[in-house]
Amino acid sequence: KSTTIPNVDGSINNTEDDDEEDVVDLASNSLLNKLIRQSLVESSHRVEVLQKDPSSPLYSVKTFEELRLKEELLKGIYAMGFNRPSKIQEMALPMMLAHPPQNLIAQSQSGTGKTAAFVLAMLSRVNALELFPQCLCLAPTYELALQTGRVVERMGKFCVDVQVMYAVRGNQIPRGTDVTKQIVIGTPGTVLDWCFKRKLIDLTKIRVFVLDEADVMIDTQGFSDQSIRIQRALPSECQMLLFSATFEESVWQFAERIIPDPNVIKLRKEELTLNNIRQYYVLCENRKDKYQALCNIYGGITIGQAIIFCQTRRNAKWLTLKMMQDGHQVSLLSGELTVDQRASIIQRFRDGKEKVLITTNVCARGIDVKQVTIVVNFDLPVNQAEEPDYEIYLHRIGRTGRFGKKGLAFNMIEVEKLPLLMKIQDHFNSNINQLDPEDMDEIE
Ligand code: ADP
Repeated sequence: KSTTIPNVDGSINNTEDDDEEDVVDLASNSLLNKLIRQSLVESSHRVEVLQKDPSSPLYSVKTFEELRLKEELLKGIYAMGFNRPSKIQEMALPMMLAHPPQNLIAQSQSGTGKTAAFVLAMLSRVNALELFPQCLCLAPTYELALQTGRVVERMGKFCVDVQVMYAVRGNQIPRGTDVTKQIVIGTPGTVLDWCFKRKLIDLTKIRVFVLDEADVMIDTQGFSDQSIRIQRALPSECQMLLFSATFEESVWQFAERIIPDPNVIKLRKEELTLNNIRQYYVLCENRKDKYQALCNIYGGITIGQAIIFCQTRRNAKWLTLKMMQDGHQVSLLSGELTVDQRASIIQRFRDGKEKVLITTNVCARGIDVKQVTIVVNFDLPVNQAEEPDYEIYLHRIGRTGRFGKKGLAFNMIEVEKLPLLMKIQDHFNSNINQLDPEDMDEIE
């Protein structure tokens, strides 16, 4: 049902979706984050711990040796290049490896070392000589399950007899097969099927149950209930662990339903601020005018790396094409690309192979490209009620205080949108100065 709408230059076909804002689902975003993550995300906050038994001593570790792991597991950790536990691992690992096992709910943003922590717990509790599933990990999608499986394989590289299996749709197991792999990672629907209908997994033999990405999980129809049905069939001595990047009330409610007597660990996210960002606006008549203003500042912005935000896919496409036709090297990152394609574009940008990235809101959240010095709002972020979307504005432009490189932000504003910009200015109590695009010297 695609419609062709000629552009000013009469060149590209757009589909009806293009008018929509780019909405990218949580699972894709989470996967994207994993694909482009190269190192730990640090936080300057303290880890908050809530013990189920507040009188028991609280252990934390500064080294992996202190955990008394199996030799082959320690080797695997060092082979991955880990020198010491991450902030969340310092607290989480002693609890996860304690005897008797303790249950845990842990929340911290993506990239803080949660996956590595529970993979370590699974690998340390597995008995390689017993050939049946002993650890069960639920993930929201096949791709996310695969990512976790890769970590198991890397960390367990020297645990030669330990193997992973994926309980995901499409993984056909012939009737009468015995599942001999010790670690099973899968999506709730298929795991449920394997446990109850096909009886491939005996839940009473599971020692470690992990529910990963709980916030993404509850976002998917049916996954909460399926997960709970699986959990109900686990033995009482099974260790239960739940992880989430965010912790809204709904995630919390789910976590408490599914994890009995938990310890709770939280690591707050670094707050975004506009303090070290100089913000400007350029008043424009229309889209063409905005484009002209962008061209005028273009020379200035390509000194560093820039991200240009548009509100709709259509606008982003239009702008990309227009800039390319005018001989600028830009790349387009939008939600219609596959996650792999998006990851590779972000990677090229990070490597400095691309200087200017045009995108929709897909890029505003979660993805931090630290070297970006200039952000252009080709369109102001507004919500459905045509009010400014403060949160998205902050995500597009804000930095965490600690990595506070100075940045520049430009807003291309149609005259009638000026009141929205003023609301943004008031909301953040920060200055957004008008800029004459003919006179870039003003920003020096
Ligand atoms: P999360 O599950 O919270 O998103 P991950 O466990 O995937 O975090 O870790 C994020 C990145 O940091 C990964 O590339 C992982 O290999 C790396 N990492 C995890 N723990 C450590 C550590 N202790 N030292 C160094 N790097 C680590």
